[in-house]
Amino acid sequence: MAKSDSKRKKPSENMGLVLFDEVSGVCPKCTKPLMKKNNNQFIKIFEIAHIYPNSPLPHEVELLKDEERLSEDIDHENNLIALCRDCHKIFDNPRTAEGYREMVAVKKELQRLSNLKKGWFDNVVDEEINKIVASLASFPGDAFEELSLEALMVDAKSDETLNGLVKLKIKNNIKYFYSDIKYKFSELDRAKPYTSDTIYSQVKTYYLKLKRQGLDQTQIFSALTDWLKNSTDSKNTEVSEIMVSFFVQNCEVYS
Ligand SMILES: [Zn+2]
Repeated sequence: MAKSDSKRKKPSENMGLVLFDEVSGVCPKCTKPLMKKNNNQFIKIFEIAHIYPNSPLPHEVELLKDEERLSEDIDHENNLIALCRDCHKIFDNPRTAEGYREMVAVKKELQRLSNLKKGWFDNVVDEEINKIVASLASFPGDAFEELSLEALMVDAKSDETLNGLVKLKIKNNIKYFYSDIKYKFSELDRAKPYTSDTIYSQVKTYYLKLKRQGLDQTQIFSALTDWLKNSTDSKNTEVSEIMVSFFVQNCEVYS
């Protein structure tokens, strides 16, 4: 039975914050910023939409009867999403099965990404890695001698879920940087024994967690890159990609 509007639970302020954060402050449908600044005041210009409707009309109940539900509880955060007013209106009127499925897919991807972020704090990487990251970040752009590797691990270990462009990027990163990074790790070990093994096992552990969550190889590459980028001082995407490529060749990733 549909709930009457008088029983509608208004999402708490903190729930609004969580949902605003989940979409990174922009409407996930049209990318309109969801907060506006007017005369030094921030004005919220988003609405919290129910993905499965809060008070479905009989034809909506029929329309969605076989569709996936993100929560039994209609007011649960899993069934809520922050949208700009226009996209909310379009989503609700008229409701369509295609629109519903699309919104479910958008929400699931947002949740996947925000769950990954929540794992960063619990998965540390030894700070010694910053020495390698910093030296790569100041790479002057003159290519090292290209390494000719007989066996590129990414060829042996990748499956069809690894995007071709990502695979090519990994190969190039390995060719130009693998030996250099391996040498830098051995320098870390000379200064502080077992540093490289510590870092390798931290990367391997986090890789396995991502794999257990069901991420495919392309998603894993980008999740590891985001993790390293945010766990290291230089916050550099390119360097993080080079490091992840190193760990593919070094057998911590995709093995
Ligand atoms: Zn919008």
